[in-house]
Amino acid sequence: MSIPLSNLVEPLSILEINLDRIHRNYLALQKRLARGCDCAAVVKADCYGLGAAAIVPELYKANCRHFYVAHASEGFAVRAALKGVEETQPAHIYAFHGSGGVAAEELLEQGIIPVLNSYGDIEQWAALAAQKNQKLSAVIHIDTGMNRLGLPAAEVDKLAENHDLLKRIDVRYVMSHLACGDEAQHPKNQEQLTFFNRRVARLGFPCRLSFANSSGIFLGSNYHFDQVRPGCALYGINPQSGQKNPMDGVVTLKARILQIKEAPAEETVGYAASYRLSSAMKLATISAGYADGILRSTGENGMVLIAGQKCPLVGRVSMDTIIADVTQVKAGVAVGDWAEIIGPHQLVDDLAAQAKTIGYEILTSLGKRYTRTYTGQDAQ
Ligand SMILES: *Cc1c(COP(=O)(O)O)cnc(C)c1O
Repeated sequence: MSIPLSNLVEPLSILEINLDRIHRNYLALQKRLARGCDCAAVVKADCYGLGAAAIVPELYKANCRHFYVAHASEGFAVRAALKGVEETQPAHIYAFHGSGGVAAEELLEQGIIPVLNSYGDIEQWAALAAQKNQKLSAVIHIDTGMNRLGLPAAEVDKLAENHDLLKRIDVRYVMSHLACGDEAQHPKNQEQLTFFNRRVARLGFPCRLSFANSSGIFLGSNYHFDQVRPGCALYGINPQSGQKNPMDGVVTLKARILQIKEAPAEETVGYAASYRLSSAMKLATISAGYADGILRSTGENGMVLIAGQKCPLVGRVSMDTIIADVTQVKAGVAVGDWAEIIGPHQLVDDLAAQAKTIGYEILTSLGKRYTRTYTGQDAQ
C-alpha cells in the first residue's frame, strides 16, 4: 500500500475538451450557410492547441470534408488523425503556407493541397505539374488589403493576363482573408469584400471562392461564397467582439489548490513583492502558472472560481502557480480543492480580456502540462 504524502491527489490540473460541443459548434456554423457552401474547419496549430488527433475525427463525423492547416507538415498529422475514422468520402487538407519547406513529393503523397500566395508560388507549382505531366490541385490566395499573405493586386493583374500558367493547375478555390471581421461595423470589411469581388472578376476564370473566417460568417451571406473557413468559433471563442457569444464553450480548465495561508496585513505576495496586503487575507496557491498558459499579463486582473465564488488573483503570475484571495469563500477551502480557470463561469474570452489579449492566444498557450481529457459521446 502506498503512503499518501499529502492531501493532494493527481492530477494537479485538468484540461477538459468537450468534443460534442465542438461538433455542435460546427453544425451551428454550417446551418448559417446556404446549400452548396462548404464549411471547412481550420485546424492549424494542433486545433488551436486543443489536439488535432481527437478533434479532427470528430469534425469528420460532423461531415466536415475540408481542413486547413498553416504548415504543410501539420497536414500530415491531420491526415494521420483521419486514418482513425472511416474515410468513406475523401477529406481535403489545405496548407495556408503553401508547400512551405516540405518536399513536393511528400505533399502529393499525403494529398496536401498548397495555398499559393504569390505569382512565384504559382509558377513553381505549374512547373512541377508540367514536369509530372499531370494536373495538380491548389488554392490561390489573393490579398484584399491585409498585406500579410496572398497575391497583391499587381500579381492578380499579371495572372489575369497569363491564364496559361493555370492550365495544369486544378484551382480548387480562390481565397482571401478578412482583417477586421470580428468588428461588424468596420468599414474595412465592405472594402475587402469589394476588392475580392473585383479582383476575382479581373482574374476572369470560373472558380469556387472562399473568403470568411469565423467572424466573416456572421457578417452576412454575401461574405460566404462557396466555402467558409472557421477556426476560433469551433473552439468556443466568440467570433463577434462586443456581442453575446453564439458558440458553446468547449474547454474546462481547472487546477488544484496546493496550499492555503492566512497572511497578515502589510505582508507582500509573490515575485517582486508587487502586491501588498491592505488587510489580513486568506490566500490559496493554485497549481497553474504562465507555463500553463495563464499569461503573466493577467496579473491582478485575473480571477478564478472556487466553490462557485469568484476569487481575484493577487501578486504576479509565476511559472507554476497563481495565488488567489479566498477570504470571502463561504464554503471554506481546503488543499486539493479545484479552482476553475476556464469553464461555464469564466469563458476563454474572459480570461483573455484579463490578460489583455484574445482567446486565440490563451488556447494556443495552454501548454503540455495539463492532464487532458476529451469528453463527449465519442471520446475514448
Ligand atoms: C486562422 C485563419 C482562419 C481561421 O480564422 P478564425 O478567426 O479562427 O475563424 C481562416 N483563414 C485564414 C487565412 C487563417 O489564417
